[in-house]
Amino acid sequence: MLRPVVPRLRSHTLLSYATRTKLRQQQQQQQLLPRYSRNYASSSASGAVFNWQDPLASNTLLTDEELAIADTAERYCQERLLPRVLLPPPRIEAYRDENYDREILSEMGELGLLGANLQGYGCAGASTVAAGLITRAVERVDSGYRSGMSVQSSLVMGGIHEFGTTEQKEKFLEPMARGKLLGAFGLTEPNHGSDPGSMETTARQHPTKSGYFLLSGSKTWITNSPIADVLMVWAKLAETGKIRGFLVERKDCPPGTLETPPIKNKNGLRASITGMIQLDNCPVPAANMFPDVEGLRGPFSCLNSARYGISLGVMGALEDCISRARTYALERRQFKNNPLAKYQLVQKKLADAATDAAYGTLAAIQVGRLKDEGKATPEMISMIKRQNCDRALHNARVLQEIFGGNAVSDEYGIGRHVANLFVTQTYEGQSDIHSLILGRAITGVQAFA
Ligand SMILES: Cc1cc2nc3c(=O)[nH]c(=O)nc-3n(C[C@H](O)[C@H](O)[C@H](O)COP(=O)(O)OP(=O)(O)OC[C@H]3O[C@@H](n4cnc5c(N)ncnc54)[C@H](O)[C@@H]3O)c2cc1C
Repeated sequence: MLRPVVPRLRSHTLLSYATRTKLRQQQQQQQLLPRYSRNYASSSASGAVFNWQDPLASNTLLTDEELAIADTAERYCQERLLPRVLLPPPRIEAYRDENYDREILSEMGELGLLGANLQGYGCAGASTVAAGLITRAVERVDSGYRSGMSVQSSLVMGGIHEFGTTEQKEKFLEPMARGKLLGAFGLTEPNHGSDPGSMETTARQHPTKSGYFLLSGSKTWITNSPIADVLMVWAKLAETGKIRGFLVERKDCPPGTLETPPIKNKNGLRASITGMIQLDNCPVPAANMFPDVEGLRGPFSCLNSARYGISLGVMGALEDCISRARTYALERRQFKNNPLAKYQLVQKKLADAATDAAYGTLAAIQVGRLKDEGKATPEMISMIKRQNCDRALHNARVLQEIFGGNAVSDEYGIGRHVANLFVTQTYEGQSDIHSLILGRAITGVQAFA
């Protein structure tokens, strides 16, 4: 059930898809086509017109509900998030000042954008593709905002929904869906990133307090950790050596047992907040442990959902790079007063990027459909996460060249996407690690160690 977002979504669905597509195309022609550029987009006998913003008409694969959710998310992101990334002085800017506004998650919660594909507990119960379209809208603005949302929606809420007890679900999911309770996901450690199975964080039975564990260890590069209320920490049980998931509630941790210092001066994802989780004999009730899931299956299943969101999210960042580069190329003039867009090398860069964005979007929609039918495999998710992140980063770097020296100014937005997209290619399984997952599935031989 969608909460306050429902009336807005319904008003959108009053227009037919064909009418909305036509309206959107008219808006694009009127607003985005600079005066000196003509519309050479070919039309077919049936009247279909090539749309550079959706070259392979992926929108035709979406349901009315998905289109309406995407519209709501895009409008919120452009109207409320984009102005916060780089505000005119003297306002505090999310990117330059590494200032993450905690209110964003509450706003997203009010719109029903958090955990949108989960059923019950105040979540929207929408499709996997719909949730991916939300991440695409957010990442069109900034990958840092999408990271904060993905951790909340996919890693933490998704994990509790899949592995939590009834009590855990009832306690955490509804306030998390409203953005009132903020989550973090602690898997990576200073000495163990790509190889989380070697983690050193441990959970041992409390020696004096029955029904409690004591958690000790360090997690690093943890999105949202400095401000999170509930931290999902993966640790090895001392008795068995098996990895288990714990929900650590900050408010219940005695002083000195939990520290979450921020990691400052990042050169990517500056609009998100990142930190460490340091646990020193931190008491956690056994009731806050996931009851049945053991080993890496738990964290990897959470990561699967988040990686799906990233695969559509980075397409949003790439599409924003294309749009910015196209506008710049049409306006900037060099040699005989020609716009840069007149030159073949510039056009090739735009054509390559638009092709990769279109292919990546189609692939993600297909995997999202399979996921909802229970037919998606982790390798499929590795494939689209790896490919879409690689292509988004590569094309963003190439499109950056179109801006010449101006690319160095953060006001043009392109350098910010390039720095962010490096991180998306690195976290949640670095690109080469996903190659190894795919290589293992193709050859039957593992090449990790
Ligand atoms: C901004 C940011 C936010 C993050 N948020 C979170 C979060 O919320 N929660 C969380 O748990 N983690 C988070 N991470 C951590 C992230 O998931 C890790 O950085 C990532 O998994 C890579 O681990 P590593 O940095 O230790 O690199 P390493 O594992 O040291 O890898 C370094 C390089 O070596 C390569 N490599 C490693 N092993 C092999 C091999 N066997 N064969 C070939 N190549 C190999 C890798 O591909 C990579 O290129 C975040 C990271 C960043 C930067």
